[in-house]
Amino acid sequence: MAERGRYTTLIEAAKKARSHAYSPYSGVKIGSAVLTAEGAIFSGANIENASYGLSVCAERMAIFKAISEGAGKIVAIAVVGKSEDFTKPCGACRQVMVEFNPKMKVLRRGVDGFSEDGSAEKLLPSHFNPEELSRK
Ligand code: ZN
Repeated sequence: MAERGRYTTLIEAAKKARSHAYSPYSGVKIGSAVLTAEGAIFSGANIENASYGLSVCAERMAIFKAISEGAGKIVAIAVVGKSEDFTKPCGACRQVMVEFNPKMKVLRRGVDGFSEDGSAEKLLPSHFNPEELSRK
């Protein structure tokens, strides 16, 4: 029950972040927010650039903000768009999610409101494994 309340707050933070998206080229506005094990929330929005390859997704923005602020383990991430069509995390974001917690819960806007897609590792089953790389 308490977990559901925390997710509601997380989703609201992602919705608020969406209003700050900078997307003059695609017009797609996405907001995201991450929840840490300590209960802190960090949010982000997609930021585009005239040199398209420099654009950053909302999910990575939220995760990088959290990590750069010294946040602990990220336990969940919410992704909000205008509809369910643009809330599937891209491959790059999935790999970044797995880096910081393969078990991170992924919540995104679905047809019937918000749905849980499962964990980051479920969304990217054959991902680069940070533990394997660190053994080299
Ligand atoms: Zn992405």
